[in-house]
Amino acid sequence: MEDQLSALLRRLEAAPGIPVQNPTSSYWQEPPHPISNIQSPELPSSADIVIIGSGITACSIVKTLLECCRDSALDESKYPRVVVLEARSLCSGGTGRNGGHIKETPHEHWNYLRETFGVEGARDITRFRLKHLDDILKIAKKEGLECVAEARKVKTVDLHYDREFYRESVDQLKRFLVDMDGFLDPEIDAHWKALTGEEVLKEFGIDGTCGAFTYLAGALSPYALVAHLFDSFLRSYPKLHIETSTPALSITPLPSSLSSVNTPRGIIKASHIIHATNGHISQFLPGLRTKIQPVRGTMSVQVPSSQPAKFTTDDSLSFMWGKGFEYITIRTPPTDSPHKSSTPGPHWMVGGGLVHAPHEGLSEFGVTDDATISLQSKAYLLGILPSILPPPPDQPNGVTNVETLSCWSGIMGFSADALPWVGRVGERYSRRRGGAKEYVCGGYSGEGMVNAWGCGAGLARLVLHEMGIEVGMKGGWMVPWEMEATDERLERADIRNLATLF
Ligand SMILES: Cc1cc2nc3c(=O)[nH]c(=O)nc-3n(C[C@H](O)[C@H](O)[C@H](O)COP(=O)(O)OP(=O)(O)OC[C@H]3O[C@@H](n4cnc5c(N)ncnc54)[C@H](O)[C@@H]3O)c2cc1C
Repeated sequence: MEDQLSALLRRLEAAPGIPVQNPTSSYWQEPPHPISNIQSPELPSSADIVIIGSGITACSIVKTLLECCRDSALDESKYPRVVVLEARSLCSGGTGRNGGHIKETPHEHWNYLRETFGVEGARDITRFRLKHLDDILKIAKKEGLECVAEARKVKTVDLHYDREFYRESVDQLKRFLVDMDGFLDPEIDAHWKALTGEEVLKEFGIDGTCGAFTYLAGALSPYALVAHLFDSFLRSYPKLHIETSTPALSITPLPSSLSSVNTPRGIIKASHIIHATNGHISQFLPGLRTKIQPVRGTMSVQVPSSQPAKFTTDDSLSFMWGKGFEYITIRTPPTDSPHKSSTPGPHWMVGGGLVHAPHEGLSEFGVTDDATISLQSKAYLLGILPSILPPPPDQPNGVTNVETLSCWSGIMGFSADALPWVGRVGERYSRRRGGAKEYVCGGYSGEGMVNAWGCGAGLARLVLHEMGIEVGMKGGWMVPWEMEATDERLERADIRNLATLF
């Protein structure tokens, strides 16, 4: 046990490295978007802003930079020159490999937020996270990407199998609804409902639960959304360059408030550098090691032999075990999809199984290798549907077996205090003196779809402000101050909290 603990600590304290070059193949990225391997004939030699990473965080940052510049009536010649660096293909990290579930679960962490940040802090954080559902769907609609990104609201159900955890969650939900009275969108509020085990059996035909929660959530293909948005930015923002297959290898401070970002294709001198690499974020911000740790997650696509009648593409599910959970969204693949199954019916995107990896999932902490998959997580995920959703007695509709279409892994960034880290960072984070201004945006603890967009948008405004480009706050994202990356927080955030938080 001691050996395992010291191996874990060694992994968490180590540099996460550069993303591996042969990742497992993610279903979402097949077929790849036409700009997935885009790069300029020559790497730009300088930029005002270099963003490292090309996932949803980088996408939100670029969109906000572009919109704010336009809204500020700034002369186009003064727009910042932006370079996005991506080690592999476009959006090939967590965003292109995830479950696409937009789901805020305050009934699971309200007490922690309330006790740690007070009622007002807990409210701000929760409203910030809840806002993602409507905003992401609105963006998809406004950009004409609703269909291609499959962005939709779903009725979600969390099926609970641990009595203690269920009771605790019911109490948290009650407290959450009281504390948030008058602060919630009535449309969302009206959907929160706790069900008993008997009610679950009656409503869903599922036996063996302690109870469930139903509420509103969302689902989408984040890869499709992000790749199409980047494509549209390139067409409307000539000062944007996206350089795939171009890993940042190191950062060297130079005189005159610049740093060089060193890549295998040459160097870029930049005045502002944004770290948007989530699980890899501490590679160039060593102060964040053990504060944001890489954790490997597993996803699969399964086609049930017979579809449970209660669940369609407008639903999503989670299985809650007290320790660990699984999550499922359901999609009908487009007719030109390369993913053909011999079993007819929608594809179930099934993720989770983390705690079934060795040592209750700790073997996946500190791991940045998404070229391999935890065998135990995979084995568990691929057996779960027939076990949980068998046909009810005397009814044909239930899962007796599944056809597995795909299984892959991806890297998340777990934060030691469960909140993202956003803002300008100094020497205590980077261990560099002088040079460019540097910023961090990441550490979403496996819940990027309800954190990353707002964090990226808020950070972009800060960067513009620090560049002397004034932008109004109308309609803008305000990142809760609790997510700010301060030196004091760096001191306080303790990896030992992870055991109680996840
Ligand atoms: C299997 C899995 C399932 C998930 N399911 C969900 C879900 O259902 N709902 C939810 O809310 N969240 C989910 N998440 C989490 C979510 O995907 C992430 O929080 C989110 O995508 C992070 O976005 P990002 O843009 O910050 O980072 P990423 O999307 O990981 O992008 C970072 C990019 O940086 C690149 N990079 C790293 N280092 C360098 C370097 N040195 N130079 C250049 N580029 C570099 C990487 O290649 C990567 O493309 C899941 C994650 C995984 C892995």
